[in-house]
Amino acid sequence: MMRRIFSATVFGPLVLLCLMAAAPAMGRAQQPRFRVLAFYSAHTEPDHVEFAKEAVRFLGSLAAKDHFALQTSTNLGDMTPSTLKQYQLVLWLNEIPTTAPEREAFARYMDAGGAWLGFHSAGYNDESTQWPWFVDFLGGAVFASNNWPPLPATLRVEDPASPVTRSLPPTFVSPANEWYIWKPDPRQNKNVKVLLSLDASNYPLGWKDTLTGGDLPVVWTNTRYRMLYINMGHGDQIFTSPIQNRLFENAILWLAPRQP
Ligand code: ZN
Repeated sequence: MMRRIFSATVFGPLVLLCLMAAAPAMGRAQQPRFRVLAFYSAHTEPDHVEFAKEAVRFLGSLAAKDHFALQTSTNLGDMTPSTLKQYQLVLWLNEIPTTAPEREAFARYMDAGGAWLGFHSAGYNDESTQWPWFVDFLGGAVFASNNWPPLPATLRVEDPASPVTRSLPPTFVSPANEWYIWKPDPRQNKNVKVLLSLDASNYPLGWKDTLTGGDLPVVWTNTRYRMLYINMGHGDQIFTSPIQNRLFENAILWLAPRQP
């Protein structure tokens, strides 16, 4: 099911429909700067659904502030070439496509210069995923382990020159999240640029499942694509940090080109 959110999401769905009806009459100056399509599942791990709901709320307010059009879909069947080409940026909030046509459509979209932002479980892959293209796209990262329960952690900015980390402090506390560690580590890929990582001071991290050490990239890009992976995305606390929210906003504005 696709739901269109046009800049002003603080209103209910009926009001949004009215806004859409009025859209053709809007002047050129009021056209959205770019178009974003966010996919999420409402029927997956509850903490990942919580995150997606908070994300849709956050993205709606960002769309109004930064003048972009946001559409959400809970149906990966919408991942077709004809739909994807209407958007400058595709977001996966908590899932990855599983069918061959969806995967093929996405790979073609990215190969043609599309942009992708994936959160948390949207990057999760293991031997059951069976999608080598995606593992390569992610920079070779394969899920290895995680902490439990979700906990806040200090993150370190590795590349302060990146537009994605603009105006972030060198370190900040990221709200409670389930942190993934990867094997292979994407940092081993020469095409990967790690922008933020878990600070070593966090270890040991977790009570039930404990991460005891090791390199843990949190935000990175595979420079062969217009893409960014962000490991945050578990539970309802993710958008409670104004500093971290700045990172998310920076990420979207960096990925999505402005329309001419
Ligand atoms: Zn999770």
